[in-house]
Amino acid sequence: MKRRRLLGATSVVLGLLLASVLYLVSQGFWNITTDSSPDIIIHNGEILTMELSPAQVEALAIQGEYIIAIGDESDILAMAGPNTEFIDLEGRTLLPGFNDAHSHHIGDRSYVNQSTADEVIDSVLSSGWTSISELFVNQERLDGLITLDQHDNLRIRVNAYLPLSWQFDRFGDWYQAYQPGQEYSSKLRIGGVKIFMDSWYTNWLHYFDQTELASLVQQAHDDGFQIAIHSVVDNATDIVLNALETALDGQSNQQYRHRIEHLVLLRDDQIQRLADLGIIASLQLTWFNSDWTQAASWPSLQNYSNLAGRWRDILEAGIPSLGSTDYPWLIGTDRSAMYVVSSAVTRVGGQGLTPTAWMLNQTISVEQALRLITIDAAYGTFQEDIKGSIRVGKLADLVILSDNPLTVPEDTLADIEVLMTMVGGVVEYIAPGQQFLFAGCEGASSQTIERTSQSMKMETMSTTNQKEKWWTGRDLNSRPPPIWKSRQSVKSAKVVISPGNLGNQDFNRADLPAHSCRFRMLDEVLKELWSG
Ligand SMILES: [Zn+2]
Repeated sequence: MKRRRLLGATSVVLGLLLASVLYLVSQGFWNITTDSSPDIIIHNGEILTMELSPAQVEALAIQGEYIIAIGDESDILAMAGPNTEFIDLEGRTLLPGFNDAHSHHIGDRSYVNQSTADEVIDSVLSSGWTSISELFVNQERLDGLITLDQHDNLRIRVNAYLPLSWQFDRFGDWYQAYQPGQEYSSKLRIGGVKIFMDSWYTNWLHYFDQTELASLVQQAHDDGFQIAIHSVVDNATDIVLNALETALDGQSNQQYRHRIEHLVLLRDDQIQRLADLGIIASLQLTWFNSDWTQAASWPSLQNYSNLAGRWRDILEAGIPSLGSTDYPWLIGTDRSAMYVVSSAVTRVGGQGLTPTAWMLNQTISVEQALRLITIDAAYGTFQEDIKGSIRVGKLADLVILSDNPLTVPEDTLADIEVLMTMVGGVVEYIAPGQQFLFAGCEGASSQTIERTSQSMKMETMSTTNQKEKWWTGRDLNSRPPPIWKSRQSVKSAKVVISPGNLGNQDFNRADLPAHSCRFRMLDEVLKELWSG
């Protein structure tokens, strides 16, 4: 009896060990436990971790998708091996990639005349965002995101929020076909559900009464979904708070993370209630800046200016909060993360007008604004353990900025440029003229080949992981593949142009000057092929 129990316990332990190892391998952690050297070391700049301690480090090392070490430059440089590549910041600033907690970049792209998701993703990356939450993902849009993800074309991390309603329309239980927090890959996840409680402060229109909202919220809550509720006007927010309080039934919101979007007009007693319930405030940091003094709806908002855009009060009350753009809606089409920070800190909009007193009473600090779009936004999607700060074991989602937002004059925050954006250890964006950030890339010339056929294939010469196999023999007719995605595993690549052996080009790693450059070159070659 005793022996059997012991054996049982042993096999449970062995099983757990095996499961852990398999999990680590599946998560790409395996390399961390081997003694192989980092793929990339970033050093010689201001590295702001967005952790409380250490808040700043001198260098970090990346292997695969993950940050494997942070610390003093000498210690990190000592980890380098023969294949390690270096990003010398030369005094520039590195931060965790930015997370836009409420947006419609992909879903509502037609509003800003962007026709393809690819185009949007390029804009998002060049603005410094590595993760976005899309707050209105209906079935058609979800299918589109899944397709992008399946073809490895998403390139940024997306949390999808499924709408249960829009104005007076109700969408039924379609969302129940999905699981709360369901992950399609490390790039695509079901974030939660979205409900529209009211319209806007110009018409004070409610789409639900208390009973109906309470029942919808209770259902989604019982199904385990995080709930995001659009509520602009204070009397609508009363109804929302009642519904959430009933659903929470005395439990902490920490495990559900229900959130209210916008909170344009907010009374003192509501700020207290949000704090008491721990409901998350989802704040759109490009709102209520001086551009709004010229907006059509301004006269109406002016009458409630003591209740409007109370970000400082919300943060001072200790309410968990998220920063976002709600791009492309409302005023302005600037989605750059640094414009967002500038707007929250100075309340000066793109037109450079002077903010009013009530706007200036609610400005927040640079550090608060940065937190709202990094670690706090990651908390908003239950992902604070994998992203949103620079810490060992977190995803290498990083952004290089031309200056340090914590030390530049506040009126120049919006001028800070995004020079490079990395998602999961892969450089997905590099600003024009910034290739020098990679040692050895300067002076590297790309080889060119003519586009001679409609039918082309790329073959990779080594197959060390699934991604690489995925590319092997793939027909590349439709568009250039994101070759940079395979950077970690492709040892060399061959572009085969057929039919009729019209041409042949081999690219061998060994012939090219540096790891990143090699892949940039491959990428450029493929882009040339596709652009014709
Ligand atoms: Zn929105």
